[in-house]
Amino acid sequence: MSNSSGATSGTSNVQQRRRVVGVPKTCWCGASLVALISKSVANPYRRYYRCGYAASLKLIDDNHNFKWVDEALLDEIERLAVRTAVLEQTVSQITTEIMDHQKMVFERMQMNLEKEIFESVEEELLETKSSLKKIMIVVIVGCMIMIGLSKVIA
Ligand SMILES: [Zn+2]
Repeated sequence: MSNSSGATSGTSNVQQRRRVVGVPKTCWCGASLVALISKSVANPYRRYYRCGYAASLKLIDDNHNFKWVDEALLDEIERLAVRTAVLEQTVSQITTEIMDHQKMVFERMQMNLEKEIFESVEEELLETKSSLKKIMIVVIVGCMIMIGLSKVIA
């Protein structure tokens, strides 16, 4: 005897009858539900889901499944809205993670490139014998630092 909605495990039959979320498919007794139209004075022509077994025996005031169709559909809409909100949150979280990762990769690449440039400049400095060349490289490094600083300021 299982409730296909799965939302009411461990509750009594009375609670199950009241608390099925969304559109119920089977009753706790195992019978599938049928869609019927109310002929009562209070709810004329209002559609409802009813346990097929209880409906066939025309049971009254029993524990078998009963749910108004409009209420079941409202439940479904609310459930979908919640799921949509969760999905939206997940998507934005994933997007943020991807952007963070890309930023990290880019920063690492930039760091490596800067390191490479400075290393090659240093090498050049060591290898250079003439003071003129040294001065030129110092000027180039100075320019690079200036450009770097202007980037930091901007
Ligand atoms: Zn039933």
